[in-house]
Amino acid sequence: MEATIEKKEALLASYKEFFSEEPIVVKSPGRINLIGEHTDYNEGFVMPAAIDKGAYVSIAKSGSDQCKLIALDIDESYEFSIHDTLAPVEQGWVNYFLGVIDQYNKKGLKLEGFHMVFTSDVPLGAGLSSSAALECSFGYALSQLFGHEVSLIDVALMGQQAEHNFAGVKCGIMDQYASCLGRANHAVLLDCRSLEHQYIPCELGEYQLVLFDTAVKHNLASSEYNVRREQCERGVAALQTHFSGIHSLRDANLEQLNQVKDELDAKVYDRCAYVIEEYIRTLKAAEALRHGDIHELGELMFATHEGLSKKYEVSCKELDILYDIAQENENIIGARMMGGGFGGCTINLIKSSEVEKTIEVVVEKYKALTDVDLKYYLVAPGDGATKL
Ligand code: ADP
Ligand code: MG
Repeated sequence: MEATIEKKEALLASYKEFFSEEPIVVKSPGRINLIGEHTDYNEGFVMPAAIDKGAYVSIAKSGSDQCKLIALDIDESYEFSIHDTLAPVEQGWVNYFLGVIDQYNKKGLKLEGFHMVFTSDVPLGAGLSSSAALECSFGYALSQLFGHEVSLIDVALMGQQAEHNFAGVKCGIMDQYASCLGRANHAVLLDCRSLEHQYIPCELGEYQLVLFDTAVKHNLASSEYNVRREQCERGVAALQTHFSGIHSLRDANLEQLNQVKDELDAKVYDRCAYVIEEYIRTLKAAEALRHGDIHELGELMFATHEGLSKKYEVSCKELDILYDIAQENENIIGARMMGGGFGGCTINLIKSSEVEKTIEVVVEKYKALTDVDLKYYLVAPGDGATKL
C-alpha cells in the first residue's frame, strides 16, 4: 500500500505540472493467470489474480469540451474534443482510451472534456495485460469523475470492447475481469460461461510468484489459436452426436471423449483431452488453495504445462527450456507457460527464502542455453480497480 500511495503522490505532482485542477486518482492492475489456460473459449474456468502492479490514472474535468491525455512513461500526449467522432488512431496507446470513451458514448453515458495524466508499472507486452490495466483504470476513473453508476463488471466489459474495436485484439474477458475485480491475497475463479466468480484465498506462505519473460512472440500465435478453437469445435460436434446436453467441452468428461475417440483425428482428441483435463485441474487448484496446499497447486501447474506443450501444442522451445529448468530446481515447486502460448512468460512458484538465488540460477542456465538475458518479475495477488 505504501508503494501505491507514493505512486499516487508522484502522479499528483506530475499532474500539477500540466494542469491546474484537482484530479482524482484511480488505479487498476495487471493480472496473472494461475491456472486455466485455453479454457475460456471452451466455457470452462480460469483462475487469474490481479497483481500488485498497475496503471494509475489522474483525471479532472477540463471545464470545456477539450480533452487531453498525457502518457507520462513515454512522454507523449493526445488532444481531442469529447464531441469528436471516434476511430482508432496511429498512436497505439491512445486507442485503449478512445475505445473506452466510445463505450461510454454507446451506452449513452454523458461525458465532458477532461485532462488526464497516467503512468503504469505493469511491464508492456509481457503477458501481464498492461493494456487491460489502462482500459480498466480509465473506465473506472470516468465513472467516478462523471458520477455514472457503472459496475466493475461493466467496466471490464467496456475494456474488452475497447480492446476488440480500437486495438483490434479479440480477447476474452479474463484480463479485464481480473483487473477490475481482483482482490489482495485472493485469486478469482471465473466461470467463463456464466461470468460469475468466486474469490479463492491465495495465501502463498513460504512461496513467491515469479514470472520469467522469454520476450519472444512467435508468429504462429494467432493462426494456431484459430486452429485450436476449430479443433475444439470438431470435438464438440462429435460428442454431440452421441450425448445430449453438450454445448462445449466444459460439458463433457474424459469417459465420453474416449467413447468417441475412434471418430476423432488424433490431434483433435489430444486437444479435447487437454481442455477437459485442464477444466478438472483448475477446479482442483481452487480446492488446493482453499486448503492452503501450495505444493498441490505447484504440481497442477507443472501438469498444465505438460498438457499445453504435448497435447495442446502451444508451447515453444524457450518456454519448454524454462519449464525444464524449473522442474530440475528444488526451490521451484510449480511452473508453467502462461497465456496463449508461442512465447511470453512462465509463471513460477519459488521458495521465498531462496528466491534471489533461484532467479540467478534460472537466468544463468537460460543464458547458457539460449544466449538471451532473461527478464523476470516478482508479483503478488493484489486489489482490482480502486479509487485512491
Ligand atoms: P500486454 O497487454 O500483454 O501488456 P498489449 O500489446 O496488449 O500487451 O498492450 C501493450 C500496449 O499498451 C503498449 O504497446 C502500449 O500501447 C500500451 N501501454 C501499456 N502500458 C503503457 C504505458 N505505461 N504507457 C503508454 N502505453 C502503454
Ligand atoms: Mg494486452
